[in-house]
Amino acid sequence: MEDCIFCKIVRGEIPAERVLEDDRFLAIKDLHPKAPVHVLVLPKEHLASLDQVGQWRADQSHALLECIVAVADKLGIRESGYRIVSNVGPDAGQEVDHLHVHVLGGERLGGF
Ligand code: 5GP
Ligand code: ZN
Repeated sequence: MEDCIFCKIVRGEIPAERVLEDDRFLAIKDLHPKAPVHVLVLPKEHLASLDQVGQWRADQSHALLECIVAVADKLGIRESGYRIVSNVGPDAGQEVDHLHVHVLGGERLGGF
């Protein structure tokens, strides 16, 4: 996707603080963190949101979840706990139309 911000980050055209990366996924620090740890885990291949996950094979969704756990492990919040959020569509306030999962932690998060 030519104009997608996260595709540009994947291609290295926009800088981002990379936390973890493999051939399928990239984890970056959120530009405007809402917790001491706030990372976005996104597939390198463009997908508009989790709503489109039907286009994936089952092992790809499983790999996304494994990547999230690996990020929590790497950032030292696996034991203390963390929250994952993925905004889908207008009512959720999705700003970037490239599937991403927020990983939040590093403090006691407020009620949800
Ligand atoms: P959404 O509301 O779509 O779930 O979340 C989009 C997130 O992407 C926001 O938390 C926002 O701070 C973050 N974001 C937007 N543009 C950039 C960027 O260029 N770089 C990084 N690292 N994060 C971004
Ligand atoms: Zn994209």
